[in-house]
Amino acid sequence: FDAIGVLTSGGDAPAMNAAIRAVVRTALNIGIKVYGIHRGYSGLITDDMRRMSSSSVSNIIQRGGTILKSDRCEAFKEAPTRRRAAEILKQNGIQALVAIGGDGTLTGAHLFTEESGIPVVGLPGSIDNDIYGTDDSIGFDTAVNTAIGAIDRIRDTALSHERLFLVEVMGRNSGFIATQVGIACGAEMILIPEHPTVVESIGYTLVSNRKAGRGSSGIIVVAEGPEPGLTGRLADQLRFFGEEARVCILGHIQRGGSPTGHDRVLASCMGITAVNYLLADYSDIMIGSDGRQLMPVPLQDVIKYRKHDPRLYKIALQLHK
Ligand code: ADP
Repeated sequence: FDAIGVLTSGGDAPAMNAAIRAVVRTALNIGIKVYGIHRGYSGLITDDMRRMSSSSVSNIIQRGGTILKSDRCEAFKEAPTRRRAAEILKQNGIQALVAIGGDGTLTGAHLFTEESGIPVVGLPGSIDNDIYGTDDSIGFDTAVNTAIGAIDRIRDTALSHERLFLVEVMGRNSGFIATQVGIACGAEMILIPEHPTVVESIGYTLVSNRKAGRGSSGIIVVAEGPEPGLTGRLADQLRFFGEEARVCILGHIQRGGSPTGHDRVLASCMGITAVNYLLADYSDIMIGSDGRQLMPVPLQDVIKYRKHDPRLYKIALQLHK
């Protein structure tokens, strides 16, 4: 290749910058030009891209967010828009693409390469860790640790005032953040969309815990779920059981911040690997991790299957009082 492009799209995640840096430096070191495409797929169709130098990615490994900016670009879901994007890439002499983002971004990447023939390698960038084909995604570890820090503080108040807190963590349709955070914070209960729990069961458990003298303070970690307002409604319903729970929604606090060492290293390794696979003539793949090594995963599998891992949830259940 003479030149490649790199973009970040969808929800931003800590250590996306570390991945950008690794892609840029790996390519430049072997004589390939790199264009940073701004605002995800929006920048592809508006020709908003700039040549990157090694120093343009200096001092970003420790920063959250993404220096390339991110966007949700509805128009990219239409084939004619993707055709226009391919034309613009060709006009700029860009022959391949690294796309960093969640499953939406990877879906777009798959369609784009399938239709245009322009090679694309995806990297899993998502705090939710809900991407099939990888045990770990860029930003997940940071988000988990941010939520743990917040819940440890809430626990102090819960204990001092003997209160029950419902703490909502991010994760849209998936309970990966909630499960990890719940285990790490010693939560009394973890509620995730993969294991729907009826409110009566939650209420009766709390009531029987209180009767058994297990105290009325505690933390219930709730995954945000597909519909907003879930945690507030749950608090209202628990009043029928005599449980007065406080609600704390961690929200976007979990998205930003300086990435953990783990995420910086993961993103750096994935960035290097993405460029190496492009050079080895791979396309239409995502770089996945099994916790020990990185491997290519066909994008069509990544976007076809739903990720589900009941192991950790079972571990969490074993640790309840
Ligand atoms: P994430 O990548 O974090 O899952 P989104 O689901 O918002 O975030 O997707 C990010 C972007 O990827 C969208 O704004 C759109 O440009 C592109 N995208 C998502 N789904 C599709 C699709 N089905 N076809 C083409 N492009 C898509």
